[in-house]
Formats: sequence, C-alpha cells, structure tokens
Amino acid sequence: MDFGWNTEQQARYAEVLAGVRAAFPQDRERDEQPFTREDWLGLGKLGVLGASVPERFGGGGLGALDTARVIEAVGEGCSSTGLVFAAAAHQFACARPILEFAEPAVQERLLPGLCSGALIAGNAMTEADAGSDVSRLAVTATPVEGGYVLDGTKSFVSNGPVADVYVTYATTDAKAAHLGLTGFVVDRDAPGVSAGPPFEKTGLLGCPAGTVSFDDCFVPASQVLGAPGLGSTVFQTSMAWERACLFALYLGVQQRLLDACTHHVRRRRQFQRRLSEFQAVSHRLAEMKLRLESGRLLLYRACWELDRDGDGALWAALSKLAVSEGVLESAMDAVRLFGARGYLREEGIEAALRDAVPGTLFSGTSDIQREIIARELGL
Ligand SMILES: Cc1cc2nc3c(=O)[nH]c(=O)nc-3n(C[C@H](O)[C@H](O)[C@H](O)COP(=O)(O)OP(=O)(O)OC[C@H]3O[C@@H](n4cnc5c(N)ncnc54)[C@H](O)[C@@H]3O)c2cc1C
Repeated sequence: MDFGWNTEQQARYAEVLAGVRAAFPQDRERDEQPFTREDWLGLGKLGVLGASVPERFGGGGLGALDTARVIEAVGEGCSSTGLVFAAAAHQFACARPILEFAEPAVQERLLPGLCSGALIAGNAMTEADAGSDVSRLAVTATPVEGGYVLDGTKSFVSNGPVADVYVTYATTDAKAAHLGLTGFVVDRDAPGVSAGPPFEKTGLLGCPAGTVSFDDCFVPASQVLGAPGLGSTVFQTSMAWERACLFALYLGVQQRLLDACTHHVRRRRQFQRRLSEFQAVSHRLAEMKLRLESGRLLLYRACWELDRDGDGALWAALSKLAVSEGVLESAMDAVRLFGARGYLREEGIEAALRDAVPGTLFSGTSDIQREIIARELGL
C-alpha cells in the first residue's frame, strides 16, 4: 500500500490549481452569478470537464482517482463552488453515462463538445414526486416508430436552464419495477423540450438549476442509454462516479477553509493573545483537519474501487457521507472561528456554509447513504 502521489500526479495537481486560480481569481460578485459560456470554455481548456473521458474524444484519459484529484484542485482553487459543482455534475452524471452507455455515433457527436466546453449537459432524474425514491417516475417514454415519445417534467436539474443536452430517465414499463426505467440523451433543441427559469437557491449560486419539461418529445431509439429497461443501472453507475469523484470538490473547499482559518487565528488577537493560543480554537482546527484527512482517505478508496471495477457501493456511500457532512461541519466551524466576520459576505465563509448544505442532499441524502451502508452490512 502506498499513500503517496507520484511526481506526475503532484505536478498535475499543482498545474490545475495554478491554472484555476489564474483563470478564476476570487470575485464575490461573479461567484454569485450563474456561470458564463466563457467560464465553461475556460474549464474545458484546463481539462476539467472531461478529465475522465478517453483522449480520443478530447478528454484527459484519467482514471477515477486522478480525476478526483483534478476536481479537488479545482475545488481548492476556484471560489465559485457553484461553477465547480456544475462542471462535476456535467462530467459525472452526463458525460460518464454517455461514455459508458451511448451508441458510438452519439458518443462521437457529443463527447468532444462536452470535454471542450462547447456543450453544457444537465442530469434530469429528480421529479416533484421522485426524490430519494426514483423507482417510480412520472415522466413516461412511450415506444413509437423509430424511438420514444417523452412526456412529463423533471426538477432540480443542475445546469438545466442553460444546458444543450440532457441525460434523463423515464418510465417505459410501469409494471416492471426497477426494470421499467430507461435512460435517454435528449437534445435541448429537440421539439417539445423546454427549460424553466433558474430556481432561487441558497447556495451554489454559480450553478443554475430548474425544471426541464418534455411535451410530446420524440427521441430516436439511437439515443437510448444502454438498452430499454436499463435506466436504473445507468443511473447507479453515474451516481457511483458522482458520489466518489464529485465530492472531491468539497475536499478542496475544506482545504481552502482550513487555510483561511489557520491564517485568521494566527493573526487575530483577543485577551492579548493570538486566537490560536486558546485550546478551544486550536482544537477546532484539529477537528477540521481530521475531517478533511479522513474524508480524503475514504474518497480516494472509493475512487480506487471504481478504477479496479470493484463493488464500490459501500465505499462510495461512506465517502459521500463523510465528505458532505464533514464539509458542512467544517464550514460551520469556520464561521465560529471567524466570529461575526464569518457571517459577512466579504470573507466568503458564509458562502462556503451555504454551498456545503446541499452536499448532504444531492447524489442521495445522508440518510440514504446510511441506508446503503446498513444494506452493505447485511442489515
Ligand atoms: C443543489 C441541488 C442540486 C441538485 N441537482 C440535481 C440534478 O442535477 N439532477 C437531479 O435529478 N436532481 C438534482 N437534485 C435533487 C436531489 O437529487 C434530491 O434533492 C435528492 O435526491 C433528495 O430528494 P428530495 O429533495 O425530494 O428529498 P426527499 O426524498 O423528499 O427526502 C426528504 C427527507 O426524507 C428522508 N428520506 C427519504 N427517504 C428515506 C429513506 N428511505 N430512509 C431514510 N430517510 C429517507 C431524506 O433523507 C430527507 O431527509 C439536486 C438537489 C439540490 C439541493
């Protein structure tokens, strides 16, 4: 067992971190606006959008572990966590299922643009009445000559208002339980597709999210992912990538918080002493470090399982739970350490707290991760 990174991996981390810092210097105003096409192309140029996609499609050709380190570096270097989340969701919940399950012609048409940033993708699974339980979808896909007709509305689609392409899921056989769902790639400009306005969210403001509706929308059979009835497998595969790799961005956020808090408690004085000299303060930082490093170990393990095609469900759930709850707790600790200034917009600490909250919800809530872990324990 080797816990070190080789020279190439260290150089890649440093290069991505420096590239992201140069391309996206800290700017509170901009961080609170939805990302622009220019931002997106910038991430494409840095190799962030398609790090795990093979080079023949314009991607970086990296495995899950190396991809996660790229996402971690972006999370550390870019203060718009919403933008980083948008990019990670695009890659793991859209480009990955297209890579693993789409027909070659669809891969060739879409993957180069998804990697370069010419295209933006959104993952449309959630519905008004299907959140944690996505085994019964109200969106239907009715077989017709040459394909399917989709009807119904998806919700909470990250990138939904601005996406060019959606990976979505619909009921093709209501009686077949989990074998009755099918995954599709749907172009934004297909007749019958409409995207709602951006939701007013609390955090991740750089990433617009909204509804996506399908009204008598014809999708050719060539745009089915995998095969009819394979939707649950396609979705679970994308969630395995999301739970493992996407959450690396929150490791980067935790590193950023730890650095900011360390700097702050060394500098600020109260009672004629540096804050860092109070044990209650230094121990809070020790807990933040513990959460970061234990989250790292679990996340790297989850990625290692993905890379060796192991049954990674347990590790992905453990990692997702530890990292999402860890960043939330550490963001709260950062507010406490900064005192009232942590509650002001200018420090960026309250933004980290707002950005951390949804990590305990998307890709399966913390309760759902505990359910998966309990199931893996045979309970
Ligand atoms: C910022 C953000 C971005 C998102 N992006 C996307 C996206 O791009 N695409 C997409 O499809 N969706 C997206 N979602 C939606 C997200 O996947 C869902 O919010 C999530 O699956 C939970 O569903 P829900 O909100 O309907 O909560 P519910 O399922 O209604 O759950 C409510 C509460 O009940 C608990 N609960 C439910 N079932 C169980 C159970 N069996 N055991 C124990 N507790 C349970 C939950 O843990 C939770 O505490 C996003 C959400 C957010 C906040």
